[in-house]
Amino acid sequence: MSSNIRDTDVRSGPDRYVSGIGVARDIGGYLDDYRQPVLITGERSWEAFSGYADAVPDLPVLRYDGSATVRNASELADRARALHADAVIAVGAGKLSDTAKNVAEFTGAELIMVPTLAATCAAYSALSVNYDEKHRYANAPLHPRNSNLVLVDAALIARGPREYLVGGIGDTLAKWYESRPVFARAASLSAFDRLSQQAAAELRSILLEESEAALRAHDRGVVDEHLLRVIDTNIGLAGTVGGFGGTRARASGAHSMHDALTQIPGTSSTVHGAKVAYGIIVQLLAEGDADEARSLVPFYDSVGLPHSLRQMGLDIDDADAVRVVAEFAAGDKAAFAQAVPGITADDVVHAMRLAESLA
Ligand SMILES: [Zn+2]
Repeated sequence: MSSNIRDTDVRSGPDRYVSGIGVARDIGGYLDDYRQPVLITGERSWEAFSGYADAVPDLPVLRYDGSATVRNASELADRARALHADAVIAVGAGKLSDTAKNVAEFTGAELIMVPTLAATCAAYSALSVNYDEKHRYANAPLHPRNSNLVLVDAALIARGPREYLVGGIGDTLAKWYESRPVFARAASLSAFDRLSQQAAAELRSILLEESEAALRAHDRGVVDEHLLRVIDTNIGLAGTVGGFGGTRARASGAHSMHDALTQIPGTSSTVHGAKVAYGIIVQLLAEGDADEARSLVPFYDSVGLPHSLRQMGLDIDDADAVRVVAEFAAGDKAAFAQAVPGITADDVVHAMRLAESLA
């Protein structure tokens, strides 16, 4: 279905990004153009949304199975087709968004995203991270089209668990650290690469300066300007980095560590962005930038992001598990070499050991 899609294409983002308190409550007002919208959601996300919205739109509701597999997306696409759906409304977080993007591609329906968490840029980006039936990372294809509309309602998102907002901060911070070495080595940068670089620098500033205040607001159950800015940063600004910068600005070392961690047992209880945050530290150490890694530790501690395996309930002395992670991170299925050319599994093990002794 998708034709001639390149990783270097500029994908500036959704057709429309609407951010504001209450916009998800008004979702009915955004559906006039469609004959048969269908909602795709998950267990917890639907609970969060229906507990927040005064009136839930009277539409068919399809439940995804939480797997983020292409198999589940195909099943949902069959059901959406049977309903003659011309729009898919994705109410949920990262995995749900990624599944709905697959469904929209398979069916050709329009796509509306209503993120219930600010844990990743999945609601903004044009790619799906797919998993296999054993919850292991499978692939991340780019879709031919972006979503038509993203409704970012901070009051809905602020009701979500703290750990996902914290994870979103880690996942987003990685945009700067993962693209930095790639841009630094590039012989020349396009105009859009430079825009991507600026977006990455900006999101890092916002997160380092405002995350603590945003989390305080979240803990008090209020939406202030800091929380609003961090939510738009995690969803929107994060998405622009990869959108404008293409492959140069997508996953490199930190996400390779995330993907590698999903290969061993015991990591599914740690949210995506927390594993990525740990990956930033390992990547920086593998780059030889221990000073920068060390400088992030107080920030990690202040917001509650892990900089060691220990903090994720894993053991650096579990040699088999560490080997599996390192082999995967340095292997062909991962992109660590984008950050550190020629990286080997031994280099990754070394960096992981250094991370354990930081701070
Ligand atoms: Zn991520």
